[in-house]
Amino acid sequence: MIRENYKIPRTYHLGSPGAGSFLCPPNHPRHFVRSIFTQYGNSPGRGPNYFLDGTAFDSLQEVDTLYGSDEYPRLPLTHQRSRLWLACLRSYYREYIATLCEDAGRYYDELRSSIHLIEELTDGLPLRWGKGGVAHWWETMEERPLPEACPGESWRRHPVNGTWCQVCGWAEEGENSNGT
Ligand SMILES: [Zn+2]
Repeated sequence: MIRENYKIPRTYHLGSPGAGSFLCPPNHPRHFVRSIFTQYGNSPGRGPNYFLDGTAFDSLQEVDTLYGSDEYPRLPLTHQRSRLWLACLRSYYREYIATLCEDAGRYYDELRSSIHLIEELTDGLPLRWGKGGVAHWWETMEERPLPEACPGESWRRHPVNGTWCQVCGWAEEGENSNGT
């Protein structure tokens, strides 16, 4: 159930933004939604589990219905933020994509052209995880923040990982800086 203008019980609290958002596209509401916790640190047994912009949701599937709205618009695949998202997908599914190209891609034109499109759109972007890989500012921010304006994570300030930052992609002098 989706409840607008929801008042969270006073004994409850909210987690940091992001729930089940791994590999979700830029602007997806899962990057912004916060989990609701009871005073014991559990999810409420009854009632909503997620909270965003004054609205409460029972499930992430309900949160997903906001994707494509004015607040959480879909971006064209050619947008730089979408390209960075595709680079993440491509890094994560590297093995699968190789297999797909070899097996299924030989038989299905549509699949082959989708893979080629992703390869084209991610051309020149770093295809790996961690330091020197694609940072994740593009999930929620319009532009890559400068290191001095980087918000860091809710649990740690910039540079989140010490000698580099997974949010803005900054890395210490001599380190492999990236984030595009
Ligand atoms: Zn940073």
